[in-house]
Amino acid sequence: MKLSINLAEIPEEGRTYLWDTQSGEANAVLADLIGKNTYSAEFTIRPLNSKDFEMSGKISTKIPDQCSRCGTDIQFPITEKYREILIPKQDQPRNSKYSKVNHISDLSGDETDFCEYEGQNFDMAEYLHEVIALATPYNPVCPKQDNPNCSIYTNPEPEQGFIYNEEMPAEKPESPFAALKNLKLN
Ligand SMILES: [Zn+2]
Repeated sequence: MKLSINLAEIPEEGRTYLWDTQSGEANAVLADLIGKNTYSAEFTIRPLNSKDFEMSGKISTKIPDQCSRCGTDIQFPITEKYREILIPKQDQPRNSKYSKVNHISDLSGDETDFCEYEGQNFDMAEYLHEVIALATPYNPVCPKQDNPNCSIYTNPEPEQGFIYNEEMPAEKPESPFAALKNLKLN
């Protein structure tokens, strides 16, 4: 099972890959994030020149999480698109290992990210791991179809209780605990 892509093997016209739970390439790497959920990742890698590659695709999966509103255990759905230019690892001081390379960002109009590969291999499984990690919401809530009774749907704006009190000065800063207090009352 290959976790990384040998870029030297990719033909000039590019190659499209389909990695999913069945084919298993990234199972071990993604397990700490997605648990027993399935995933499906599709991506195309195409050489731009002898050393740079364009890689774009999409991953769909679910992550086990807990609703930040009602505490229910949920499988939070994630679908993320990605597009990167893969460039050979640059010689850089040790500390800037993760610094972004910006000097060719005019290459195309839309926002492009650059990702370094080492030798001739791109660690795709690790890349997908990062995509999912970054897509994980800070405050996940129940998907509506799974739990329409979650307070995020039955009581979406707890602050609205104050709306009729027109005497209240508009500038008064909302205490960060006010929202919590309202949650408990529900
Ligand atoms: Zn919920």
